[in-house]
Amino acid sequence: MSPADATRQDPNCIFCKIIDRQLPSNVVSENDYSLAVRDVNAQAPTHILILPKIHVVNITEGSDQDLLGKLFQTACNLAKSEHLENGFRIVVNTGNDGGQTVHHLHIHLMGGRAMGWPPG
Ligand code: AMP
Repeated sequence: MSPADATRQDPNCIFCKIIDRQLPSNVVSENDYSLAVRDVNAQAPTHILILPKIHVVNITEGSDQDLLGKLFQTACNLAKSEHLENGFRIVVNTGNDGGQTVHHLHIHLMGGRAMGWPPG
């Protein structure tokens, strides 16, 4: 990813607007490369979205291993700070069949209840 990409945003993207504070959100944590917010339509007692600050459409575009590693590390750190000692689920919906509705890469961190398998 080039330095120019580091400021890349999509003005029509709802998650870019949340990152820019143009839209309100319930922020859990922030660092140089990501913002973590509570999902407005939580599917578990803890449901957090980890959003990269750059506009990456999905995980197949996010080929920057360093960024992906940091995003997953942030999810694991949040699982700890949210006291999800009993376990949690990390989900990265990708594309239409994957159920992705917001086309800005995000990691779902869900916990606080037992998860079923297979997912729907
Ligand atoms: P996905 O279906 O994987 O693309 O997930 C998108 C997620 O974003 C859904 O779980 C939505 O509930 C969530 N979402 C949509 N708009 C907002 C928002 N303004 N603030 C927080 N979460 C949102």
